[in-house]
Amino acid sequence: MGDFDQDTLVAMLADTSEAPGAVAAVQYHGLVSLLDGLPPTVSDIAELSGLSPDEVEDGTRALIDAGRIELDGDRVVGVGGLTLNTTGHALSLPNAQMHTWCALDAVGIPAALGLTATVETRCPHCGARIVVHVADGGATAAGPVTLFCPTGPCDNVRTDFCSAANLFCSPIHVSDWRAEHPSRSGEDLDLAATVDLGHAMWGRYQHARDEAETSG
Ligand SMILES: [Zn+2]
Repeated sequence: MGDFDQDTLVAMLADTSEAPGAVAAVQYHGLVSLLDGLPPTVSDIAELSGLSPDEVEDGTRALIDAGRIELDGDRVVGVGGLTLNTTGHALSLPNAQMHTWCALDAVGIPAALGLTATVETRCPHCGARIVVHVADGGATAAGPVTLFCPTGPCDNVRTDFCSAANLFCSPIHVSDWRAEHPSRSGEDLDLAATVDLGHAMWGRYQHARDEAETSG
């Protein structure tokens, strides 16, 4: 991975430790509810988190400004990378067909949460169909699939990061794509490195889920 700074990227995209409690609560309860197939409302999240509806509203507004949430009316339909809307990255879970904002989300979320999943996407350079199988916290694919992981400025996660965080059929096609998009800065990550980054970004959700299950 060269001098790729995983910690900085995780802090930029995922770390809510310095964010108000409401932002973290909307992200966590939103994502877990979506995985259960239930797009939650603000009042659902208030009930789940114990925060007031006003606090949850404030957290939701902050996430809208940062491009980290999708709403349909008063329901959260996309958050933390997972979405009920159709995108170029399909995520098949045992009980649900979902999509994600980018290829890192599609591989990283099920890997970090220990879910069995199939990811389908397309190489942005040649259009080849790419299938990744996720199980037991790891991922496999038929060829040398490679993630272009953007490292440029990120004011809005969905437009600045997710729009270019794609899986390619090979490192060669990442290089070819880079030559055509010289303004994009980023790192090439092989599938194992993509999975590692996913664990670093979403592992805290698995931890929180384990604790919730332990405490009943
Ligand atoms: Zn390709």
